[in-house]
Amino acid sequence: MQDAHGADVRLHQLKLYVDNHLHDRYLAPPWTVVVAVLLTAWVPVWQAALWAGLELLAIAVYIAVYFRFRQASPEAQSNGHWTRRIALAHGVHMAMWSSIVVWAYVPGNASSLMFAMLVHVGLISLTVVMSNPHRQLLFSDLLAPTVALVGPPLHDGTLFSLGLTALGVFYIALMLMVGLKIHASTTETLVLRQRNDALIRELEQQVRRDGLTGLSNRAHFIATGRFELERAARYRHPLALLMLDIDHFKRINDSYGHLAGDEVLKAVSRVFEDVVRANDCLARLGGEEFAVLMPETALDPASAAAERLRVAVSRLRCELQESVVTPTMSVGVAIADEGGESLSSLMRRGDLAMYEAKAQGRNCVVVAPAPAARLVA
Ligand code: GH3
Ligand code: MG
Ligand code: MG
Repeated sequence: MQDAHGADVRLHQLKLYVDNHLHDRYLAPPWTVVVAVLLTAWVPVWQAALWAGLELLAIAVYIAVYFRFRQASPEAQSNGHWTRRIALAHGVHMAMWSSIVVWAYVPGNASSLMFAMLVHVGLISLTVVMSNPHRQLLFSDLLAPTVALVGPPLHDGTLFSLGLTALGVFYIALMLMVGLKIHASTTETLVLRQRNDALIRELEQQVRRDGLTGLSNRAHFIATGRFELERAARYRHPLALLMLDIDHFKRINDSYGHLAGDEVLKAVSRVFEDVVRANDCLARLGGEEFAVLMPETALDPASAAAERLRVAVSRLRCELQESVVTPTMSVGVAIADEGGESLSSLMRRGDLAMYEAKAQGRNCVVVAPAPAARLVA
């Protein structure tokens, strides 16, 4: 669980990294062209042009990888795969830049040295600002410009050049510290956001769930019922309601205690969950009373479902304090009137049918007659 959360945070870090680096598509190409033109002060034009061409290609490749990543909207499990792809695509671009110190740096030429160092100080600053959301990519992005910043002055071997290298090392160390600090605070924010999201989801669940059985509660059932009834009336689709009540439940409580009664309620609820279809709304309305709302269901399939539920509950054996309790239940079935019946009227008819089932001796299913207005019509 902890690992899944960690992977989720790392995926968000990768998304932030990609969001930051997508700005490269505006900045990097003109920067490449200007640097290539300036490089012609030390290298032949064809070399600078070839470098610019290859670098523009490298930019196009890693920007394309970023867009693919965004389109794929990957899951946390594919984190490693995308991190490697991005590290490779972006790494080629960083290596292209840092290759300048190999083929365009003229040892002993102060302007060339200052230019190479200026470019890499800029690259390191930009990398820290843009790559800090992802620790691993921050390190891999900094590798080439770090070598390219501290390496060239070492060629000369003078005390001044050594001083420049030392400056470079301190600068990189400071930037890295800043980058890691920003990374830590971004991570903290992401973890907090994730916890908040999880808490909100849990609270939303709790508001809808019955605490004992985990089924939908009365409030959620009423809200769903109103919505489904309206939809059924608008499209003239059938809708069925089952009202379920455990028989002589008080006796179970009286014989075995309230806690044992709770266990029976939970066991009955598990049976309901096994039998009821996923898109029906199954709820505990209170006490030992339950209801099932069945959209797109006419009388025959609704009666058959009620009978299946009744039989399934009657086969249940709850072992309580060395004795076995076999609960039964009575069911009332009501079919929504096509004329746009209210939920309270539908539930009242379902209840009356359920009381009729009690009157007929319990452990049976009774279908409610159509509403009075329709009978008259
Ligand atoms: P009938 O067959 O007519 O439905 O009889 P009954 O005993 O099932 O119905 P009655 O309404 O007389 O009793 C329901 C009992 O359910 C009374 C109440 O104490 C008990 N009850 C209500 N809520 C809970 C609960 O959350 N847990 C437990 N264990 N019992 C509950
Ligand atoms: Mg009862
Ligand atoms: Mg009751």
